[in-house]
Amino acid sequence: MTKKTDTILTHAGSNPHEYHGAVSVPVHRMSTVVFKSYAEFEEAEKTYEGAEMPDAPFAYGRVGTPTSAAFEDAIAAIEGAYKSLSTCSGLAAILTALTAFTAAGDHILMPDNCYGPNRRACEEVLRKYGVDVEYYPPLTKDITKLFKANTKLVFIEAPGSITFEISDIGAIVSAAKKAGIKVAMDNSWATPLFLKPLELGVDVSVMSATKYISGHSDAVLGVVSATPESWPAVKRAAIVLGLCAGSEELYLATRGLRTLHVRMERHQKSAFDIAQWLEKHPAVKRVLHPALPSCPGHDNWKKYYKGSSGTFGIVLKESRREKAAAMLDGMRVFRTGLSWGGFESLLFPKQPHTCRTAEPWNEDGFSLRLHIGLEDVGDLKDDLEAGFGRLK
Ligand SMILES: *Cc1c(COP(=O)(O)O)cnc(C)c1O
Repeated sequence: MTKKTDTILTHAGSNPHEYHGAVSVPVHRMSTVVFKSYAEFEEAEKTYEGAEMPDAPFAYGRVGTPTSAAFEDAIAAIEGAYKSLSTCSGLAAILTALTAFTAAGDHILMPDNCYGPNRRACEEVLRKYGVDVEYYPPLTKDITKLFKANTKLVFIEAPGSITFEISDIGAIVSAAKKAGIKVAMDNSWATPLFLKPLELGVDVSVMSATKYISGHSDAVLGVVSATPESWPAVKRAAIVLGLCAGSEELYLATRGLRTLHVRMERHQKSAFDIAQWLEKHPAVKRVLHPALPSCPGHDNWKKYYKGSSGTFGIVLKESRREKAAAMLDGMRVFRTGLSWGGFESLLFPKQPHTCRTAEPWNEDGFSLRLHIGLEDVGDLKDDLEAGFGRLK
């Protein structure tokens, strides 16, 4: 029986009869593993050998536990991946993909609208170790022009952080494949419910499981998923760097998976309703929501995605800091904070001008990222309406 994603989400990773019939996956707090014999110890030590670093048996907490295996099996099932690997954060998952396929002297292409800390890691780690990092316009029509003889990896983040452009994933993948270049993609926004990057030919998909996967703003966690060809390099990178996830976080994220489809449906519906309302609002200059035709790259969204999540951007007509502060400080339901993907609505004031180099951001209005949580939509609109009133 081939199961649909909703069914997989409900059960994946759980084997109740291995733990006394309990439906939930146990939290294994484990560093040391002891062995019944020297022969078994030798077997476990093989974890570190060979290209693929065989998974079983468990040898030491950092290289995998039954709790991490449960989460990873579930993610691999919904991503359609050969295997997945959990990391201590989404940023660590990105670094796993970046370091797995690059060495000093290589060139990589990063989207100009990528997640800020990702860009910082490229500048302060990869560049320091001799990797030439170049930023490309996310809506480029011809990525091939930017390929060099030493280009090893193209990274895609769609939609882009803050500005929400949707790249032409298929075009980038086919150009890269022809040139023998790996493609990695940040799939945190869509989750595998709305996009399965590996089905589009992407080699490695990374997610911040901190966001929608955990869904409750109480855990920091990342995950990398790969094809059979890319898996050995990904696994080696994460294990050699020691980027393992904590048991409690893995438990919370596995628990989050059980309701992911229900939450995403509601995030999608509420956020799209509010985005359409904002598009007609006189205080708002632009709405950057991938499912709206006005969003740069909307056609790519229509072509590749099955849905949209609860996170999008707006540019206000107002640009003054003090006015924006009055709006933010008086909110009664929305709160101001980093991150997104939890049950609660958030506003994130972030001006893209300083974080782009390939393509300048020329909007002069104040930019806000909205995350639409699971509250009543009417209450959220009332809160925003009152906030826009404070801009006057
Ligand atoms: C938050 C975020 C990350 C990093 O995730 P952490 O779990 O916070 O390290 C990566 N990519 C995107 C698009 C994000 O929004």
